[in-house]
Amino acid sequence: MTETTTPATRFAVPGRIAVNAEAATVWQTATLTEIRRETPHAATFRLAVPRWPGHLPGQHLMLRLIAADGYVAQRHYSIASAPDGSGHIELTLDRVPDGEVSGWFHTVARPGDTVEVRGPLSGFFAWPGDRPALLLGAGSGVVPLMSMVRHHRARGLAVPLRMLVSARSPEELIYAAELGGETTTVFTRSAPPGTPVGRMTAAHVAPLLAEQPIGGWEAYVCGSNGFAEHASRLLVAAGQPVERIRIERFG
Ligand SMILES: Cc1cc2nc3c(=O)[nH]c(=O)nc-3n(C[C@H](O)[C@H](O)[C@H](O)COP(=O)(O)OP(=O)(O)OC[C@H]3O[C@@H](n4cnc5c(N)ncnc54)[C@H](O)[C@@H]3O)c2cc1C
Repeated sequence: MTETTTPATRFAVPGRIAVNAEAATVWQTATLTEIRRETPHAATFRLAVPRWPGHLPGQHLMLRLIAADGYVAQRHYSIASAPDGSGHIELTLDRVPDGEVSGWFHTVARPGDTVEVRGPLSGFFAWPGDRPALLLGAGSGVVPLMSMVRHHRARGLAVPLRMLVSARSPEELIYAAELGGETTTVFTRSAPPGTPVGRMTAAHVAPLLAEQPIGGWEAYVCGSNGFAEHASRLLVAAGQPVERIRIERFG
């Protein structure tokens, strides 16, 4: 299944992707098949979802855990993997202190366990690969952006894509080994020798906007509320049109 024929794009209008209403409401059983550590606080969970309808990079899903006594906890998670029609999807979860759902994944979950998912959800943050993309993320906000990077690579897309990610330290940088020439990193607490430490600034954003691809950039910003505010202000100050900034807040 390709990204142009997934149900998620069937009713697409420019700039906004319609969501398949049925896929968004039907719960499916997902089986955990693999756990990969990314950083001391984040891990990737690969799930087999045999009837997964396909997704676009940037979309998320709703996940629910049901305890033996019937107690239900549900949370949104971005899809980290690129659309590939394999019947598997990957999620990357940060372990939140005392977090109910992330705590279960990080301490209890084992391959073979099942959870329930419904989705994909939200067309607003989706990137079909049809326009130049400028991606700004912090912490686990890199997850939906990585789906876009992976999609860009897997399809060999020629459309420009750049990513700017902020992490506390090199050890906390999710997907570090996978990041390539499209990515600039910013470290806020500690950095390798010779690399400055500090938050994302106008000096990081300006060189990206100095390059103006045909059609201009579509900016995708993802992270905590604080990061989303900060990064979108930097983009606007650097000349990015406000209506071409899409924001996903995890906080
Ligand atoms: C669209 C969307 C996509 C998301 N995608 C991802 C993703 O790809 N990866 C990911 O790790 N998370 C993602 N999140 C966040 C996720 O939905 C949960 O909020 C997060 O996993 C915490 O849930 P929990 O049950 O572990 O913690 P809870 O039991 O809900 O919370 C425990 C404590 O932690 C605090 N807390 C809750 N969330 C956070 C947070 N994000 N940071 C710091 N403190 C917090 C709460 O206030 C509470 O005090 C996404 C959120 C949204 C809205």
